[in-house]
Amino acid sequence: MNGPLGSREGAGEWKRSVPTDSPSPSHAPLEPDVVIVGAGSAGIAAARRLLASGLTVVVLEARDRIGGRAVTRAFRGHPVDLGAHWLHAGPINPLVELGVRRGEPLRRAPTDGHFYVRGKPAGSRSAALDRAFAMADRAMTQAAKGPEDQAAAKALPPGMGPQGRRVFDIHGLVSGRPLDEVSLHDFPSMDYADNLFIAGGLGGYVARLGRDLPVRLRTPVHAIGWSGHGVRVETPDGSLRAKAVIVTTPMAVLQAGLIRFAPALPHGIEEAIHGFRQGVYEHVILHWPDTPFKGPDRLATLTGTRRTPPGLLTRIDGTPFHFFELDQPHAARFDGRDADAPARFARDVLAEHFGPRAIRNLSVPHATAWHNDPWARASWAVVPPGLAPIREALKAPVAERIWFTGEALSRAQWGTAGGAWEEGERAAGEIAGRLKTSR
Ligand SMILES: Cc1cc2nc3c(=O)[nH]c(=O)nc-3n(C[C@H](O)[C@H](O)[C@H](O)COP(=O)(O)OP(=O)(O)OC[C@H]3O[C@@H](n4cnc5c(N)ncnc54)[C@H](O)[C@@H]3O)c2cc1C
Repeated sequence: MNGPLGSREGAGEWKRSVPTDSPSPSHAPLEPDVVIVGAGSAGIAAARRLLASGLTVVVLEARDRIGGRAVTRAFRGHPVDLGAHWLHAGPINPLVELGVRRGEPLRRAPTDGHFYVRGKPAGSRSAALDRAFAMADRAMTQAAKGPEDQAAAKALPPGMGPQGRRVFDIHGLVSGRPLDEVSLHDFPSMDYADNLFIAGGLGGYVARLGRDLPVRLRTPVHAIGWSGHGVRVETPDGSLRAKAVIVTTPMAVLQAGLIRFAPALPHGIEEAIHGFRQGVYEHVILHWPDTPFKGPDRLATLTGTRRTPPGLLTRIDGTPFHFFELDQPHAARFDGRDADAPARFARDVLAEHFGPRAIRNLSVPHATAWHNDPWARASWAVVPPGLAPIREALKAPVAERIWFTGEALSRAQWGTAGGAWEEGERAAGEIAGRLKTSR
């Protein structure tokens, strides 16, 4: 699949919408049926679904833009994602199905990658690494069928050889925490196969989907009252009454107590919210015209020296831009006080592999720090060992008035924009059903 897959609704629109700070209109009703807190993927999906059912909606968004952790910025005229970039799990990802229907410019992610040893190409993949992944995945899938929800790392078989460490690191990178901090029962539910990309960036796509929704930007919600009938949602600009509220804010925002609930939430819901750990995954964006890598959108594995990049996506959409990814242990070293530290680290590691001459023209236009962003505080929510049921526990509405949703609630697509979308639609569908029958 190369280039656009269809030619209807959204075709061509993406070229006009980069970068993606699309201004949102403010045709928001004063007493909507439903208030949605947060205009990321889950909030946008929920708003679209509720409006399609004929209900009235207001979306309250703390930032001055929509999209949440899916956002695209232009660097040297190229759109580059600062958050979500891959459309994972194509066959079950609702953003893929919708993109095909709209004629969005989707393209398949290549399945081959680069494999370099001490800066020299050594084929498109390492057979030993592939074997180690297959062994680890079999062992974890099998162990996850057992009753005990232990750390995913405990299920890794012994004897995986030198590739074992690499498997541990890569699974840890995409999980958002080292595997000894990730629930085994939760881990295999994520399926990364059949990935796609979208021209103009995934953030650009999500912003297009949110265009024309009734969103109030720069409107952080700080309290939700739910005594009596309906809900009362408090913001610095005043309060809004509605029949129900959908809360899509990241779990880490709820854990920080940025929204006060009155009365307090039921104990089981509080416990579930506080059970998650902050998943961390950050992009160091490289502009590298002299890159040794050929072909667009390939992952690169570099080995043979002291340090390896935790993840490296090369020549994004055929441009000189690359993602040097930071996993949680690496990102934790950069506390934000030295803004250039992630860039220096990426340059040092690449110089170790390719020599200092090879990185002469490499620049780092930006390094993300989502884990320090007040409205995100994490890249996604991770379930620690022993707490696998917390995603499901949060799906039960509180007093038929408060629905929690967002990426953290998705079982099969957690930590993704597609999972957030799926869960936003689910919550909205439930509310639409309830409100329509009560009319
Ligand atoms: C670096 C990085 C790379 C990633 N890579 C991928 C990837 O390749 N593919 C993928 O599918 N996913 C990826 N993800 C994860 C993906 O971005 C998220 O899972 C998804 O965007 C979450 O959507 P959401 O709607 O649940 O939350 P969000 O997008 O965070 O939306 C929640 C919204 O609530 C707002 N908000 C917060 N507090 C308040 C408040 N008090 N009042 C009002 N509004 C508030 C926020 O500003 C935000 O807009 C990545 C994430 C990061 C950080």
